[in-house]
Parts: sequence; structure tokens; C-alpha cells
Amino acid sequence: MEAIIQVRNLTHDYQLSGNEMIRAIEDLSLEIEEGSYVALVGPNGSGKSTLARHFNAILTPTSGEVMVDGLSTADEQNCWEIRRRVGMVFQNPDNQIVATTVEEDVAFGLENLGVAPELIRRRVAETLDMIGLSSYAQQPPHLLSGGQKQKLSIAGIIAMRPRCLVLDEPTAMLDPRGRTEVLGTVKQLNSQEKITVVHITHFMEEALEADQVVVLAEGKIVRIGEPQEIFGGELNLEELGLEVPTVPKLAHILRQGGLKIPDGVLSMEQLVNSLC
Ligand code: ADP
Ligand code: MG
Repeated sequence: MEAIIQVRNLTHDYQLSGNEMIRAIEDLSLEIEEGSYVALVGPNGSGKSTLARHFNAILTPTSGEVMVDGLSTADEQNCWEIRRRVGMVFQNPDNQIVATTVEEDVAFGLENLGVAPELIRRRVAETLDMIGLSSYAQQPPHLLSGGQKQKLSIAGIIAMRPRCLVLDEPTAMLDPRGRTEVLGTVKQLNSQEKITVVHITHFMEEALEADQVVVLAEGKIVRIGEPQEIFGGELNLEELGLEVPTVPKLAHILRQGGLKIPDGVLSMEQLVNSLC
């Protein structure tokens, strides 16, 4: 597997007024494998959004280096190519919707790229089909549910065929049903379309779905590993300011109560099996 994003010794300082600055990321190194599904978690202010903004050159390093598909984000000439490869989805779907119908909204980015109308039509239809919004093509976006609106903003990015999708708390403003819908779409884009996913979330249940979980605190990686390694055994996540997902928490309590439950239990099914 090759890395699509390589972060080497990244430090990011925000310059405040006067000589003050905030160090949001400090000497951080990370590789995102092409095709993988990475969850990025950590308490508020730990630097998740700052790091994500480096992945498509919205921000550039104070020091260190970020390479996307071999292209350095520090070189302004690479910006265009980097943004074609890495698409970003943000928290509030209402801020990302630009057109008056669903299909026009998906077409918007392609029109800006100067793609031929015939190809745009085909791409929009394919993308709406992929995301499961075909039956809403002619509707105004404001009639969609929160989850559907967020799927629409994902569709607008996917229509441009990026290799990597970076989502910054895409489910934070959604109800449980909307969260499930969006998470399903993202998982499908990863497993079927082989799109690399970096999913920032403060819902630990969502992080359980990833291939790899990266835990940030105070601008540094404090833990990295498969969900089993992060959530499956001894849990000291609360001291990092993170909630513990329900099943691992339950397994932990039962273990403390003397039941022999193996490490690495993440799903209800695994828990039930380990008790039988
Ligand atoms: P997270 O997404 O994990 O909540 P952020 O990356 O938004 O964390 O923030 C990391 C740190 O950088 C915080 O201390 C935050 O206050 C600061 N910060 C974020 N954005 C800015 C900005 N535009 N200007 C100044 N400081 C910022
Ligand atoms: Mg954030």
C-alpha cells in the first residue's frame, strides 16, 4: 500500500495579533494509506480541523512538510492538483449547498472545472445514483433532511472524482438517523469506490468503523492503531477527554466484575459470543 498523504514533522502556528501565536499542531508525522479509512479523533481544540486543512492545502506548514500524492502543499503551484485529489466536507451542510436543485448543486463544481456539459450530465447522474439521491434530482435542496443534505455535499465533492475524501465532523449537526445515513454512504465510497477516507468525528462509535484510528491531543498524536487496539483493551480514553464507545465500555465493566472477556471486543455480537 502506498501513502496518499504524508505528513512529516508538521508544526502549525496560528499568528494572533501582536507577537502572540497558538501552536495548533506540533511536530506531527503521519501517513494515510491510499484506500484506507482513517478516523481522526480527539478533544475540542486538539488540532483535528487544523490538520485536516493541511490535507488539501487550505493551510500550509509553519514548518515540516505535507505531501499529497507526492506533491508538496507548500508549493502554491500544486494547490490545484492537490484539491482535485483531496475533497473536503464540513460540518454544516447548509453552508455547502450552492444551487437551487439537487442536480445543479452536484454539477456546480464540475462546471467550475470547465467539464463538457454532456460529461457533466453523465457524472451528475452517476454520482446521484452512487449516493442514493437520484429520486431527488429535480428537488430544491432545502427540502432534503439533514442527512440527505450532507449526502448532497458529499455528492458535490465525489462528482469531481477525488481520490481522498476528508470529512470534518460531517455528522455533528445531524440526528441519529442522518448520522447513520451519512456514515453508510462514506463507508460505501471507501469499500466500493476505493476512495481514501479521513473522517474526523467526536462520536467514538463512528471511529469503530475505521481501519485506523488516530487520537490527537494538544496538537500531537497520542495514540494510533486499529480500533481494537484503541478501544479493545484497557481504556484510558477518558483521561484524553474522549467518551468510550458503549460495547467496549460494557466489556470493561464486566471484566472488572470478574468475567473473562477477551480484549478486542468491539461489537455487541462479539460481546454476546464471548459470554456464551
Ligand atoms: P479541533 O478541530 O480539534 O477542535 P482546531 O484545529 O480547530 O481543533 O484548533 C486547534 C487549536 O488552534 C485550538 O487551540 C484553536 O483555538 C486554535 N485555532 C483554530 N483555528 C484558529 C484560527 N483561525 N486562529 C487562531 N487560532 C485557531
Ligand atoms: Mg474542529
